[in-house]
Amino acid sequence: MSRQYADIIIDIVHGAVDRPFQYRVPRELEGRLSVGERVKVPFGKGNTLRDGYIIGFSGEPSCDPDKIKEIREAEEDGTAAPVQLIRMAAWMKERYGSTMIQALKTVLPMRRRVKPAQKRYLQLAVSREACLEQLELCRKKKQKARVRLLEAFLEDPVLPYGMVVQKLRVPSSSFQIFLEQGLCRIRTEEEYRNPVHGPAGESRRLVLTEEQEAAVSGLLEVWKGDRRPCLLYGITGSGKTEVYMELIRRVTAEGRQAIVLIPEISLTWQTVMRFYREFGEEVSILHSRMSAGEKYDQIERARRGEVKIMIGPRSALFTPFPHLGLVIVDEEHDTAYKNETAPRYHAVDAAIERCRLAGGMAVLGSATPSASSYYRAQNGEYHFFQMKTRAREESFLPTVEIVDLREELQAGNRSIFSRKLTERMRETLERGEQILLFLNRRGYAGFLSCRSCGNVIKCPHCDVSLKLHRDGKLHCHYCGHEEPAPRTCPACGSRYIAGFGTGTQKVEEMAGKLFPEASILRMDMDTTSRKGSHDAILSAFANGKADILIGTQMIVKGHDFPKVTLVGILAADLSLYSGGYEAGERTFELLTQAAGRAGRDKLPGYVVIQSYAPDNYSVEAAASQDYEGFYWQEILYRKLLHYPPVYRMLSVLVTSRDEEAAGERAKEICGLADGKEGLEVIGPAKAPVSKVKDIYRYMLYVKSEEEEPLWALKQEIDGLGWDGQVLYQFDLE
Ligand code: ADP
Ligand code: ZN
Ligand code: ZN
Repeated sequence: MSRQYADIIIDIVHGAVDRPFQYRVPRELEGRLSVGERVKVPFGKGNTLRDGYIIGFSGEPSCDPDKIKEIREAEEDGTAAPVQLIRMAAWMKERYGSTMIQALKTVLPMRRRVKPAQKRYLQLAVSREACLEQLELCRKKKQKARVRLLEAFLEDPVLPYGMVVQKLRVPSSSFQIFLEQGLCRIRTEEEYRNPVHGPAGESRRLVLTEEQEAAVSGLLEVWKGDRRPCLLYGITGSGKTEVYMELIRRVTAEGRQAIVLIPEISLTWQTVMRFYREFGEEVSILHSRMSAGEKYDQIERARRGEVKIMIGPRSALFTPFPHLGLVIVDEEHDTAYKNETAPRYHAVDAAIERCRLAGGMAVLGSATPSASSYYRAQNGEYHFFQMKTRAREESFLPTVEIVDLREELQAGNRSIFSRKLTERMRETLERGEQILLFLNRRGYAGFLSCRSCGNVIKCPHCDVSLKLHRDGKLHCHYCGHEEPAPRTCPACGSRYIAGFGTGTQKVEEMAGKLFPEASILRMDMDTTSRKGSHDAILSAFANGKADILIGTQMIVKGHDFPKVTLVGILAADLSLYSGGYEAGERTFELLTQAAGRAGRDKLPGYVVIQSYAPDNYSVEAAASQDYEGFYWQEILYRKLLHYPPVYRMLSVLVTSRDEEAAGERAKEICGLADGKEGLEVIGPAKAPVSKVKDIYRYMLYVKSEEEEPLWALKQEIDGLGWDGQVLYQFDLE
């Protein structure tokens, strides 16, 4: 096919230009451009130079050839995305409602090369523990530059020299002493740097258990066969990671590449290290805290075949591997896989689509699969593999006890710790073992409200209540807005204005009063905002530097703390009231994961779940670690109320700076759906968070037994055409 003309998507986020435009390929670029390439083209009346992406070629002009403009320049770094990624973008645009350019930007590798790879590095030459000790020392001596450097080392043991001197503003005189002491050294390197550092190739290959063997051979059969998606349902500690690694070994041996998605890299550093020990330099990672240049380097290494395995959160799915064979989605139920900005894709569905396009295989793994994945596995749409026992024989499942908080209150105990939990805490501390206390919240005392008029202080930009922190200021957890806490109610002037609820800081205080001799660490968004502090808290706790760790969601994911034998869940049912048909599922997941933190090693573990709704099925099933029990109840509820995965549901989010326009549009869409047979409409209503960063949000839901009418409706909505944005989420099965 002749490639005289190129179809180009212009880099402007605007509905009206969201279609390809044809441009002529100039003679000097003939044969040198490919799909996915970024080019500069004249656009509009003034022929302003714009960036654009080539999405296809043709030999025929689509209109008068004299009117077709010419491509000006090509960015010749040879990083054209494989056609597959362009197809991914088209799929996302259709399914989730975004402009093509938003979708392209999501899937295409970062191609603007920020800087050539740095040549000199400072490398930490001692253990993390030694680094932490030095950090404490420098903090005490108030040596600020050194503190900055050491904190950066905790984040990444190899730092570009230029970054240290310029960005961190650490003069070489400050680290001269570290160089002399051998705490760090200077290293030079020409090639792309690898963000994973550590002892490679020290893996001791484990002998797989029978269950692991069975899962591996089943998965390999699928690999040789139809390559439909697979669900690996294995209880916590059943050794899913070993199964993934074995599968990756086989698939990469055939010259294909693998992507491992994890919910958030900082939370599962231990997993990354396990892969690195096994696969060494063939592994790389991507994560949100890397700079654009660092990400570019890794994507480049993957494209050139230096890396065969990419580990990262959802965006790692778009690694431009030439022969992708396998995508593993670990903890597939995790809500972090939902992208919250346009295109609002779900990484599990996107992974399946990416594999379909690449002729590869998707493997979803979880100890508590999402109801919809389990449903598909039951229907035979996915292959299903199960592991029911823990891989290491010596570890036990914990003993779980539920405490009814209503009874506590009746018995006159108004503390946040029930009598049972207090007793278990005392025993655990006496045995010299560790405790995790889990709370589904953060901030000192939640929100501020007026006891006279009931006014709750909200963020001026977002429709959420501001949270009172210990610094005496009110913070918005959505947009970061802060303001001083008022002394009187801004609405009525009353002085009776006070905090509500319990936060992690409060729990810390109370635990300190109850057990003054225990040392306590707290981990939440507030204590981990400083660079490196996240890891510092975790390694301090893992090294036994504290008896109790208090935290939010962050502490329940993926960590192995062998000396933790008691997990206390302070208010199990908070997430039951979060609204949405998935509230029960969220609660069950959270509780099971939290409970799974207890007794991961040789010591027997205890879990105390405190709840106001102890007979709720999600709480009960979590307590008995009974996923199937939960699942069948949940599916029954979804069937009765026509929710996914039994019914298909289209969620429509209408956003606009103009509140009235958004509301009107939402109503109009409901009108479109209302008359149609087989469609059930819920809404429209303000979204649960009805304003974010001054953009108003309305929601509506349309349910249907079949998929087809929902797609037809979406086409109609797209046809309405206006300036605000309409986003979709399809829960098709
Ligand atoms: P999961 O991801 O299913 O929760 P992991 O893969 O983290 O489980 O494994 C749990 C623990 O069991 C890890 O410490 C791992 O090293 C160990 N393990 C896994 N497979 C085996 C095996 N075949 N033999 C011995 N120990 C194993
Ligand atoms: Zn008031
Ligand atoms: Zn805000």
